[in-house]
Amino acid sequence: MARLGMKFGGTSVANIDRIRNVARHIARERGEGHDLAVVVSAMAGKTNELAGWCEEAAKLCDRREYDAVLASGEQVTAGLLAIVLQERGIPARSWQGWQIPILTSNAHGSARIEHIGAAAILNGFARGEVAVIAGFQGLHKESGRIATLGRGGSDTSAVAIAAAIEADRCDIYTDVDGVYTTDPRIVPKAKRLDRIAFEEMLEMASLGAKVLQVRSVELAMVHKVKTFVRSSFDDPGGLKKGTLICGEEDIVENQVVTGIAFSRDEAQITLRRVADSPGIAAAIFIPLAEANINVDMIIQVASEDSGVTDITFTVSAADFARAQTILFKAQPQIGFSSLHGASDVVKISAIGVGMRSHAGVAALAFKALAEKGINIRAITTSEIKFSVLIEAAYTELAVRTLHTLYGLDKA
Ligand code: ASP
Ligand code: MG
Repeated sequence: MARLGMKFGGTSVANIDRIRNVARHIARERGEGHDLAVVVSAMAGKTNELAGWCEEAAKLCDRREYDAVLASGEQVTAGLLAIVLQERGIPARSWQGWQIPILTSNAHGSARIEHIGAAAILNGFARGEVAVIAGFQGLHKESGRIATLGRGGSDTSAVAIAAAIEADRCDIYTDVDGVYTTDPRIVPKAKRLDRIAFEEMLEMASLGAKVLQVRSVELAMVHKVKTFVRSSFDDPGGLKKGTLICGEEDIVENQVVTGIAFSRDEAQITLRRVADSPGIAAAIFIPLAEANINVDMIIQVASEDSGVTDITFTVSAADFARAQTILFKAQPQIGFSSLHGASDVVKISAIGVGMRSHAGVAALAFKALAEKGINIRAITTSEIKFSVLIEAAYTELAVRTLHTLYGLDKA
C-alpha cells in the first residue's frame, strides 16, 4: 500500500464524461489499496475565460480580486470530482486551498507555497477518504486572502502536496503520454522518454517545453518527489506508460543529449556603437534589472581600435517593448548610437546531463546548423545545456537537425 499524489489537468476534466474517466483512474489506484491526494485543474479553457472577464471589468484590476475570480475554476472541478467519486461508492471530499490550508507568499497571481497543513489530508486518509484538492490556489499567510500560483500552477500544487504528505510518487495526468525528446508536432520522430533526470526536466521546462510548470519541477527536485507524467486518455485499466522524472542515479542508460527544447518567446536587442569602457554593461543592465526584466543571452562584439563596440542580448518577448523604452531613457548614460530590435527569433536548446562528461557537444551543433545555412545570432552554454538564438523561420529545420544529430530519431 502506497501513498500517491495524482493530478489531472484541464483537458482531463473538461466535461463530466472526462471527470468520470478520471474517477476510473482513481478507482484503479484505490483498488490497489493506495491512499490518494488528487489535485485538479479548472476545466479546459475556464481559467482563460475567467481572466478575460477580469480584464473586461478593468484593464488593471486588483490582483487580490483577480485571484479570487481565477481560483473559482478549480473549486468547481474539485467539487464535481468528489461528487462523481461518491456516485461510484468511493468516499471522497473536496478541499480548497484555504481549508487545508495551503499557505502562500503574497505575490498575488504568482504566489509561492510556503506551508501545507498535511494533517487534514492524512486525517482524511485515516477515515478512508480520497482527498480531492483544488489546484492553483492557496491562502496568503498574513492577509488571509486567496492567492493563485501562476498559470499552470496546479502542477506545483500537486508536487508540493505530494512532498507534504511524503507520497511515494506524484502522478501527473495530462493529454500527452509523457515527456518527449522534443515537440512531436515539429519532429514526428520524437520519442517518449522513459525517464528523465530532475535537472534535465528543469532545463527542458525552463527552456520552452510546456509539459510542466517550471516551479513544480524545482520542487520535485528539491524534495526528491518521483514524478510520473502520463496521459489520462490511456485506458484506465491498461498498461502504465509515461515518463518518470527522477534522480540521475535512477537512470541507467544516459544519452549525451536527452532532449531539444525551443522557445519562441524571445526578443533580441542590439545596441550599436557603445563605448568599450568600464561601467557600460552596468549602465545597460542595471536599469533593466530594476524594472524586473530578465536578460538571458548576452554577446559583446570585440571592439577594434575605435573604442566602440556592439552589445546584443535577449529578453522575453513580453518584456520587449518595455526594455526598449527603458534603454532609450538611459541612452544619455549608455551612449549608444542606435538600437535594433528583433522579435522574429527563437531560442533552441539541447539538454543532457551527459554533457558534463563530454566535450565538444555544442560545437557539433554549430557545424550542423551552418551546413543548413542557419545563422547563429547568440549562444549560451552551461553545464548540462547549450542554447542558440536563430531566426524564427528556421525553427523546424534547426530542431530537426539537432534531433537527428544527437541520435534522438532512433528508437
Ligand atoms: N487552471 C490554471 C491555469 O490554467 C492552473 C492549471 O491548470 O495548472 O493556468
Ligand atoms: Mg498545465
